Amino acid sequence: MGSSSSSFPHRNIYLDVDGKVQKVVFSQHSSPCDIKELLCSSSNLPRNTAIKLINPEGAMVSIDATVPANSPNFLYKVVPLSTSQPPAEREDMFQSLLTQVAEQFTRAFRINELKTEVTNRLAALEKRVEMEGLKVVEIEKCKNDLRKLRDEVTSRGGSRVNCSCKYSFTDEGKKVTPRRDVPTYPKYTLSQETIEALKKPTFDVWHWEHNEMLSCLEFMYHDLGLVKEFNMNPIILKRWLLAIQENYRDNPFHNFRHCFCVSQMMYGMIHLCSLQGKLTLTDLGILMTAAVCHDLDHPGYNNTYQINARTELAVRYNDISPLENHHCAVAFQILSLPECNIFANVDPETFRKIRQAIITLILATDMAKHGEILEGFKQKLDNFDFNNEEHVTCLKKVLIKCCDISNEVRPSEVAEPWVDCLLEEYFMQSDREKSEGLPVAPFMDRDKVTKPTAQIGFIKFVLIPMFETVMKLFPQIEEIMVQPLRDSRDHYEELKQLEDSMTEQSSFMSRLRKDLKSE
Ligand code: 5GP
Ligand code: MN
Repeated sequence: MGSSSSSFPHRNIYLDVDGKVQKVVFSQHSSPCDIKELLCSSSNLPRNTAIKLINPEGAMVSIDATVPANSPNFLYKVVPLSTSQPPAEREDMFQSLLTQVAEQFTRAFRINELKTEVTNRLAALEKRVEMEGLKVVEIEKCKNDLRKLRDEVTSRGGSRVNCSCKYSFTDEGKKVTPRRDVPTYPKYTLSQETIEALKKPTFDVWHWEHNEMLSCLEFMYHDLGLVKEFNMNPIILKRWLLAIQENYRDNPFHNFRHCFCVSQMMYGMIHLCSLQGKLTLTDLGILMTAAVCHDLDHPGYNNTYQINARTELAVRYNDISPLENHHCAVAFQILSLPECNIFANVDPETFRKIRQAIITLILATDMAKHGEILEGFKQKLDNFDFNNEEHVTCLKKVLIKCCDISNEVRPSEVAEPWVDCLLEEYFMQSDREKSEGLPVAPFMDRDKVTKPTAQIGFIKFVLIPMFETVMKLFPQIEEIMVQPLRDSRDHYEELKQLEDSMTEQSSFMSRLRKDLKSE
């Protein structure tokens, strides 16, 4: 215990310094600062080390003049604050700090490494492109030689070389593989009821599986007399249809069922407008084949996206209807396979005309040309002549356009799901455009468009004006095609009014709630 005297009041403290007992004596008038310095120097620590004093029980002891006196059997220990953690813990901390620093270094190093690798790979790729470019030149040279040889054989009276072979691409032809086997889709016998229904826009296009749609298309070619007219091999017709189906992608909207819809509507219009008596069978073959092929290999993103995102298609076709050019190219890629060429037995001059006409029709499905095409047709209407080739071309362009966008002509239960499909594809595009920082069209934006808003404008300003124009030449379409469009417009306008009043009501309610809260 410490003692004190009035003349020299002091206190004795006993410390444990490296296992030895160290006695410390200080005046009871010493300041805490003095005591702290004294404790530091007695424990061999620098004078201003931050310290704490602990007793053998681990309790902190205050460092000032009132420090309880102790005995050599109850030693205090001076502990520097910075090393208050046990050594093991300190090591852990140091290690983790070291690891963090090391990680940062490794990351930086790895980034540098990656950068080097990317640079190297780019260089290697550039080199490859250069070499492959050379190869392409070589291939082109070979092709030229072959062409010369073939021309020589032809001029010497050799067998006719099918000109469709000229149009095969090698870069994107993976899916355009010939089916050498006899097609495997099961024979589907159409009932008389189905055959009758197939001729009408009321046909339920959702009811059928792919194989059944293929059978329907096959039936249409036979029924229209196209198989006979073009002397088609019926097995090749099946194989061609299979190749077509395989070259439509599983997009929400632009898929094989859409191809079927457009083709079935064309078949329906041929009957409704009695085109068999007005156009040649070649024209009917052109119309049907263009409809079947018109969206081949559609990627699900429209021309605007292709152009803005500078896709391979946009670059290949210089921003000029990239999609329609592609659909067309794929169509002729398929027809260039002898085992899929439904026009294999057609003479070259007729094939040339058919090809030209199909290209014209598929390119006409680009909606960017809508106004121009409809105007051209209107001008011919006053004295329309079915014997005038130019007039007939205008009519065929408008017909394929009508069929392409004809979903709303169908009964509402058939038409409505197509709007969902279209919006799904639109939203897929606009989401991607947002994420890629590209411009977004308001009609594709999920925050701006609804089913009624999407349909009202399209029906009023695109569909009805076009079908009413066609109605001047074929009045019979009014009841079967134009009236359903008017009904659908009215239906969506009602829906829109309902939507608007709901929105109005809910905003009124939220205003009301806000007002009530603030009172
Ligand atoms: P496509 O050749 O792409 O099948 O048809 C042309 C375009 O017309 C479609 O991509 C789509 O933008 C538009 N379209 C076709 N049907 C409808 C429809 O029912 N509603 C709306 N809003 N647009 C349609
Ligand atoms: Mn289409």
